[in-house]
Amino acid sequence: MDKLELLSALADDIRVCPLCRLAETRTLAVPGEGNGAAQIMFVGEGPGEQEDQTGRPFVGRSGKLLTQELLKIGIAREQIFITNIVKCRPPGNRDPLSDEIAACNDWLSAQIALIEPKFIVPVGGPSLKTLVSPKLGITKARSKVYRRDGILFIPILHPAAALRSPTTMEQFLEDLSNLKEFLNREISDEEITPIEEPKAATKEEEDGGTLSLF
Ligand code: SF4
Repeated sequence: MDKLELLSALADDIRVCPLCRLAETRTLAVPGEGNGAAQIMFVGEGPGEQEDQTGRPFVGRSGKLLTQELLKIGIAREQIFITNIVKCRPPGNRDPLSDEIAACNDWLSAQIALIEPKFIVPVGGPSLKTLVSPKLGITKARSKVYRRDGILFIPILHPAAALRSPTTMEQFLEDLSNLKEFLNREISDEEITPIEEPKAATKEEEDGGTLSLF
């Protein structure tokens, strides 16, 4: 099987996944979609109502904003792969719980391993904490570059937050402008922000800790 077929088989498995409580309340799981040979993956927090109804990621109001603004910086949805840290909608759009994120991690890890992106864009705080470090907050980490497992991570604010506040909208657009700039040139080692690792695997850190990508 080629990469696309493997991603498609993975998506079929995700659609019937029973691994956490979100399986009981979802309408449709949302595996993610896009280019199997993408250099860039966008990873959000979880499906919302529209995504749950359609089985497609980032198709609601905030997803449309992201799609529209990405096009303005020269990135079409067909060029990227876009997914979430949890593939099923948390009821009422609550934040996904740490055990749900942990249960879903193998799916995301498998997608990353297949796609082998050069860049991952964590969209919003929960994705940043899961993929890069639980010690990071999106407000300070946005538009910086981190490296983990050979992949460059460039976090941006979530478009849903941008829709709630004009100031956040400005910052979201600034993040996309910075992202465009990073993607169009070489990034030197000096520009990569070191990741402060959690000291010891306490219970609390394990529960909220960064999940291994592979
Ligand atoms: S959120 Fe992830 S782990 Fe939970 S049921 Fe959906 S696909 Fe499975």
